[in-house]
Amino acid sequence: MTEIRSVAVLGAGTMGRGIAHVAALAGYRTTLFDPHRPALEDARATIHRRLDKGVELGKVAAADARAAAERIALHGALAEAVAGADLVIEAAPESMAIKVDTFREVARQAPADALFATNTSALSITEMAAASGRPQRFAGMHFFNPVHVMRLLELVRGLETSPETLETLRGVGERMGKEVVVVNEAPGFVTSRINALIGNEAFRMLQEGVASAEDIDKALKLGLNHPMGPFELVDLVGLDVRLSILEFLHRSLGEAYRPNTLLVQHVRAGRLGRKTVRGVYAYDREGKRLPP
Ligand code: NAD
Repeated sequence: MTEIRSVAVLGAGTMGRGIAHVAALAGYRTTLFDPHRPALEDARATIHRRLDKGVELGKVAAADARAAAERIALHGALAEAVAGADLVIEAAPESMAIKVDTFREVARQAPADALFATNTSALSITEMAAASGRPQRFAGMHFFNPVHVMRLLELVRGLETSPETLETLRGVGERMGKEVVVVNEAPGFVTSRINALIGNEAFRMLQEGVASAEDIDKALKLGLNHPMGPFELVDLVGLDVRLSILEFLHRSLGEAYRPNTLLVQHVRAGRLGRKTVRGVYAYDREGKRLPP
């Protein structure tokens, strides 16, 4: 079984910075790549803030947090980020074209025996695996937001993913403190498929005037014991990310997944959630929700 000592994370957005955080805290030498320089600086600040918070809450020892921060190197050049990686985890935008291009390039620059994983929420692992030229050494590692808090890791088996690759990645996930479930490739896996349906239905109810966004959220939290309401969750995930998942599920699984038009309008208006300080709800620059 491949021994993983170093992890390269591609994309320093919402997910990439979280994956880099848990990789470094698990003791892996970690590189974080993003073509957009400000995303890297912002990611560094987020990771340091979260590590400090972990120390303050007594969840992380101060020395471990310091060591984790020192284990992370930021790169604006892909070749440098993946050159010494045993495992490459891609967290670029949810577009098959971007992911396929990225893995073609990574296959040229990373060590021949490195394992590749994608954090896609719904797209085909097998299609990316084929583009990478190493389909046996390729799988989905579907983390959840915020990565340092959420306990689940969905490991997704593509058509040709080897049992050894899955076992190695299970070990990596467990070392990062995650509970692992293994899912065969199917559109949206388990979690994104169910979640997309609930989120879409919530928008439909809002559009129909069944209840306010606040009351739909409250009903699901207090009546169904969901830890977050569907609108609170989509503001965290990103409405654009959710829309692209629904479009893909609609193409592959049919009408039940047709994106609601109110959701589409929010995305067209640039109301993408917390990251643009306005989604279903409005937020201030510190991320605090503003009253309706
Ligand atoms: P994001 O938009 O926050 O971040 C994407 C980052 O990728 C940006 O910083 C961007 O500059 C960078 N990028 C652009 N082109 C790139 C390239 N060619 N190579 C590497 N990086 C590139 O997106 P996100 O929410 O972090 O989502 C990333 C992936 O994780 C998507 O596939 C998404 O479906 C998946 N995902 C998201 C969530 C979530 O809650 N947001 C949860 C699970 C999985």
